Amino acid sequence: NKPTLLVSACLLGQPVRYDAQSKPMPEQDWRLLRQQFDLIPACPECLGGLPTPRPAAEIVGDNGAAVLRRQAQVKTAQGLDVSQAFVAGAKMALDIARQHGCHAALLKANSPSCGNRRIYDGEFSATLKDGKGVTASLLDLDGIMVWNEYEIQQLLRQT
Ligand code: SF4
Repeated sequence: NKPTLLVSACLLGQPVRYDAQSKPMPEQDWRLLRQQFDLIPACPECLGGLPTPRPAAEIVGDNGAAVLRRQAQVKTAQGLDVSQAFVAGAKMALDIARQHGCHAALLKANSPSCGNRRIYDGEFSATLKDGKGVTASLLDLDGIMVWNEYEIQQLLRQT
């Protein structure tokens, strides 16, 4: 049996992004990953009950870990607080990872849920800052290694 890898559903071609688009990774990456892993798709924002399409949202405050501690919020540009759905989705994604025994995840870069290194700064000005999204933080706190789609070579080498 191959090890399992939790993967952002949008990277696997599912049209689940806020704009109802997907961000499929190149076919070659997909093939390499499938040789080494059983891929488990999950979209935390969908799991948390948000519709598709949905308004774009950013973390207002520190980062995803702060959202989990209720010391920051996820908000839309109109100021609607969607933190609860983001946290619920993160917990459901973690449940799925645990159910399937995933020790690693490949999550979409820069997303307020899935971003593992950088997130938008909460000003809706297309500016990135260092920090993790809500789901990436929760998985990381649980000891699951989180990689993004630009780090597939490292992921393949280190797992
Ligand atoms: Fe993709 Fe994650 Fe956003 Fe869902 S929450 S669309 S999986 S980046």
